[in-house]
Amino acid sequence: MEVLISEDRIRERVEALADRVNADFADRPFVVVGILTGSLVFLADLIRRIQHPHQIGLIHASSYRNSTTPGTLVVNDGLLPDIKGKHLLLLDDILDSGQTLARLVEHLQHKGAASIRTCVLLRKIGRQTIAVEPDYTGFEIPDKFVIGYGLDFADDYRHLPFIGVLPDNTPHP
Ligand code: 5GP
Ligand code: MG
Repeated sequence: MEVLISEDRIRERVEALADRVNADFADRPFVVVGILTGSLVFLADLIRRIQHPHQIGLIHASSYRNSTTPGTLVVNDGLLPDIKGKHLLLLDDILDSGQTLARLVEHLQHKGAASIRTCVLLRKIGRQTIAVEPDYTGFEIPDKFVIGYGLDFADDYRHLPFIGVLPDNTPHP
């Protein structure tokens, strides 16, 4: 498998992102909201570098873009604590069309968040069809299907410590 981003590079970049989060959130408690399931590994690494008080919240979003209703995003916030009046740092694994992040920002605003900053580990170049500008971005990557470090293919490969490119001939289980 082609390794796009090594474990070492991910570690360095996550440290740098955490430094910025530490600087920006030094003065206020906040909630790190991870978008399930892809952001879990990133969240676990990032929060261990955060030096200020924060809570963790999780929200589930899945899009069914190859079904009869393309682009439908289903959101489940049953695991999310009350975020009314809270400052949020919303984390996702990868920004592709931008729909997930844009829709969840809207959703969390409606639930009364005081402020929302967004952070993505990866951003695919030239793929955004919805205007959304993350406050923090780990890496810009080419338009390839990537796996590892939380990102899956058919719910596998999330455990890989690096970001890899899924080989074209990988059979769907
Ligand atoms: P968007 O809503 O921005 O189009 O898509 C974001 C979601 O699509 C991500 O949270 C992720 O679940 C999924 N996704 C987009 N590109 C990739 C990719 O290259 N690999 C994997 N594993 N998931 C992706
Ligand atoms: Mg996802």
